[in-house]
Amino acid sequence: MQVTHQIGDDFLAAYAAGQLPEAFDLVVASHLSLCPPARERYDALEALGGTVLESAPEAEMSAGSLEATLARIAGGASPQPELARTKTCDVLPAPLRDYVGGSIESVKWRPVGMGVKQAILPMSDGASARLLYIPGGAEMPDHGHGGLEMTLVLKGAFLDGADRFGRGDVEIGDEDLVHHPVAEAGEPCICLAATDAPLKFSGWLPRLVQPFLKI
Ligand code: ZN
Repeated sequence: MQVTHQIGDDFLAAYAAGQLPEAFDLVVASHLSLCPPARERYDALEALGGTVLESAPEAEMSAGSLEATLARIAGGASPQPELARTKTCDVLPAPLRDYVGGSIESVKWRPVGMGVKQAILPMSDGASARLLYIPGGAEMPDHGHGGLEMTLVLKGAFLDGADRFGRGDVEIGDEDLVHHPVAEAGEPCICLAATDAPLKFSGWLPRLVQPFLKI
C-alpha cells in the first residue's frame, strides 16, 4: 500500500494543537495510523513544537492560558482520538474502532440508496463524521461544499477526475471544489468522511433526500 495523498503540515499542526473539531481530529488520527510517512512528519512537527515551547520566555504564557490548559486537562474538554502506535490489519484503524465499538463488522450501516450505505458517528461538536460504503463503480452525486470536507479511504479506492484515492489517502475539499467522486470498479470503497457544513448538491434528487441523510 502506498499513500499518495497525505494530509498537509497545516492540518497536522492544527491537529497537534487540538484546534480541529472532533470529526477532523478523527480523520487525521486515522490517517496517521494508516500512513507511516505522514506519521513521521507529524512526529517531527511535534518535536519542533516541544522545542519552541521549551525555548519560549515564561512570561509569554499568561496565567489565563495556563488555567485554560489545566481546565482542559481536568475536564477532558476535547476528547482527541487516541493515536495508534501499532500496526493495524482491520479495515478500521484503532482511532475509528473506538467510535464504532469494534471492527468493521460492528458498524451499524443504514442504506441511503443505490447500494450506498452510511453510518453517522457520534461527535461532541458541530462537525459531522460518517463512514460510507460505496459499491464498486457507483458514482457519488455532483456536489460542492459549504465548508471543509475530508475524506479518508479505508478500503478499495475512488476516482476523482485524474486522481485516484486508495487506502490511507485523504481528499480535502472546500468551498472552491465541485466534484463527482466515483468508486473504482471492483471491490466496494469504504471511506470516513468529515464535514463542517452541508454539501451543495446540484441534482434535485440528492437535494430532496439530503435532509434525511444529514449530509
Ligand atoms: Zn465532496
